[in-house]
Amino acid sequence: MKQQKRRKKRARPGEPQRITKAVTQIRLIEVNPGKLAALDELAPVYLALCQQYVTLFCLEEAPDKLRAPCYPTPLSERWQRVAIMQAAGIAQSWRTNRAQAYQQYQQDLARYQQRAADGTLDAKAKEPQWREWNVPTLRQPCIQANVNVVKLELSTDSSFDYWLTISTLEFRKQLLIPVKLAEYHQEALTDPKTHQKRTLNSSVQLNQRDGIWWLTLSYDEDVPVQTLPDAPIVGIDVGIANFVTTSTGKQYGSFHKHLRARHKRDRAKRRRKAKLRACLKKKGAKKLPSTSSRTGQRLIRHVKHEINCAVNQCFSEEEHQEAQFAYEQLSVASMRFKAKAQNAYLRASHLGRIPQQILWNSQKRGVMATPVISAYSSQECSVCHYTDRKNRPDQRTFRCQVCRFEAHADYNAAVNLSRRVGDSQLRACRDRAAIKAVLMQRHEQWKQQQGRGNSQQVKRRKRGKSSAAASSI
Ligand SMILES: [Zn+2]
Repeated sequence: MKQQKRRKKRARPGEPQRITKAVTQIRLIEVNPGKLAALDELAPVYLALCQQYVTLFCLEEAPDKLRAPCYPTPLSERWQRVAIMQAAGIAQSWRTNRAQAYQQYQQDLARYQQRAADGTLDAKAKEPQWREWNVPTLRQPCIQANVNVVKLELSTDSSFDYWLTISTLEFRKQLLIPVKLAEYHQEALTDPKTHQKRTLNSSVQLNQRDGIWWLTLSYDEDVPVQTLPDAPIVGIDVGIANFVTTSTGKQYGSFHKHLRARHKRDRAKRRRKAKLRACLKKKGAKKLPSTSSRTGQRLIRHVKHEINCAVNQCFSEEEHQEAQFAYEQLSVASMRFKAKAQNAYLRASHLGRIPQQILWNSQKRGVMATPVISAYSSQECSVCHYTDRKNRPDQRTFRCQVCRFEAHADYNAAVNLSRRVGDSQLRACRDRAAIKAVLMQRHEQWKQQQGRGNSQQVKRRKRGKSSAAASSI
């Protein structure tokens, strides 16, 4: 299902890709005091209703955007439709992520049980446990409204740019709110070729943060694909130590250094706060301090920004201008394995944002980027295909047990990924075991080509980065 969706979105070679661009952070101005009060009243009612449907769609029913309303609410039928639609979207992505994580858990468990049966279990290995996911909690009001409840119209007779007409809780009473765009918003909403105002999508998003309302507008743009069919492929490995490592031997961004130090400080602070909360709760205090910290929020924003910069740099790189990209199709669940001992750290590093940013950058630039299977890409030798955990003596080193090829581990993985575009043999594999079998079969072929029978007698041999990079392109 998901695959189909992805394929539909991806344009065929030569066909332009349609992308939706958002213009965010447009502050709703209050011309008269209390003008937005009706919106303030609506927000919690909407949020509570949306939450009810999110819970329903996560736990009891399949998400259905067209489901008949079933909860009592003062909201109009039109507003209810909007809430149901938004809730269905939230629940759908929650279900998809949960299903992926559960599948991963089952694979881990099967692997654990297999090893236990074979007697090859590591002394420190623990049986994988499944912890049921919580239903998403909607905290801040976010309204994805369509034209039935929020109408956006160009203003022709005032100093404002648009008028926003919002239906309220009161029957037939509508709010009329002027929208004034900043210069950079104006620029984003003007087509640089025709100097015309872009046609906006009719759906808008309204967010309330710290009592202030923000508007997000969006428009569609068709971007022609620039990449030639035979363009060289650059593989991208995603990680914490280096956000992005390419098969051309480049690295961009890192969670280490100052980001890690900040994360540690923030974690310590949150722990202290949690202790204080527990203590106050025991004593029966009514008002408890919040566990979310301002510095924590700032850190998250900063990490996201660093990720955006790293991916942007990778795409802007002179050497990558004529290239296409291959990147890891990683799920939140499989990311765990990329950072075993560093789970809290991993959440803070927002690794999942990197593939999203790669997809976004490729779409807006009209560059091909293909998600590829990432299984064993960090254990496979990019020279002889020998695949073994022992090829990784530590987090950053790759050293092949057979051909002795040695490189930075992320770089070796990036080279492997660059070769997996259009690898139908790997794609046909049903599970990790089948993938490993294919890779080991390729290793056998490599050995035969080398004219060597016994892999253990291979002479020590090292290959430089540059020669492997050249062969990957
Ligand atoms: Zn090797």
